[in-house]
Amino acid sequence: AKARKRNTWMFFTQQLVDASRERFAMDTGLRRALDRNELVLHYQPQARVEGNSVFGAEALVRWTTQEGEVIGPGRFIALAEEAGLIHAVGRWVLREACQQARQWELRGLPLRVSVNLSGLQVVQGDIVGEVRAALRQSGLSPSRLELEITEGFVIGHADEGLERLHGLRCLGVQLSVDDFGTGYSSLSYLTRLPVQCLKIDQSFVADVPGDPDDETIVAAILSIAERLRLDVIAEGVENAEQLDFLKSLGCLAYQGNYLSPPLTAEQFDQRWGVGGPA
Ligand code: C2E
Ligand code: CA
Ligand code: CA
Ligand code: CA
Repeated sequence: AKARKRNTWMFFTQQLVDASRERFAMDTGLRRALDRNELVLHYQPQARVEGNSVFGAEALVRWTTQEGEVIGPGRFIALAEEAGLIHAVGRWVLREACQQARQWELRGLPLRVSVNLSGLQVVQGDIVGEVRAALRQSGLSPSRLELEITEGFVIGHADEGLERLHGLRCLGVQLSVDDFGTGYSSLSYLTRLPVQCLKIDQSFVADVPGDPDDETIVAAILSIAERLRLDVIAEGVENAEQLDFLKSLGCLAYQGNYLSPPLTAEQFDQRWGVGGPA
């Protein structure tokens, strides 16, 4: 038993060493990635349920290492937050997304691009100034930019963050609450926040129709949004049954692999037939 305990101990120690080594490698790697332009944005289309017309795209960051490995944001955003690199990453994402949106705008495409903000970007640093700079440098119309903030952030920092969110709204950009329904919040904050849109978290969409609890939650979110006159986008729609269910409840917009997975800007242009001038 003692030997096994020791083995277990050594196993965990080795895991910790591996984990911290990986973190260190990721940390330095990510710094280099920023310098070497190894980050790339993919765009997932957002469409109206009625007529399936694409009206927007969510920018999702990826890291393509020099070895050609594609690392998803789930593996490096939290790390970037811990390492204090999220500001540099976030600034790059904002500028890149605004430039792409401006290109689409110049071609007469009415696409709104959504950018995910880390809560740290909003509470630390000068997010209003950065968004203003990204808009100015790209020449993008503010109404073509949407910023997504997570419900977790909204709950934790409603007071500190509120002023900044108002500052962002004053720039003319759209604000939405990402992963809506996953936090444990009173709903009263919704009326205090200058947001225009709720994104129904994909965990609620995954098992509808069929799971009565999730069906109820989705219906409740849609009804709250309607009462508060907020737009809604359902996320993570993977099949026709889910889309039909959402449609039957009056949901107007969605995104998900059923419509399209995230694409490179080039693929997006090809797939959605938006290559030429409008
Ligand atoms: P999110 O904002 O909730 O983005 C949706 C995630 O669901 C994306 O994962 C997307 O690829 C994935 N997805 C889209 N359609 C489907 C579907 O039909 N089924 C399923 N199962 N998944 C689908 P991704 O790209 O790995 O991003 C993960 C998270 O990383 C995002 O969640 C977002 O919170 C964060 N993130 C992505 N880009 C950025 C960024 O530029 N800045 C910050 N701060 N966070 C980002
Ligand atoms: Ca998002
Ligand atoms: Ca989400
Ligand atoms: Ca479920």
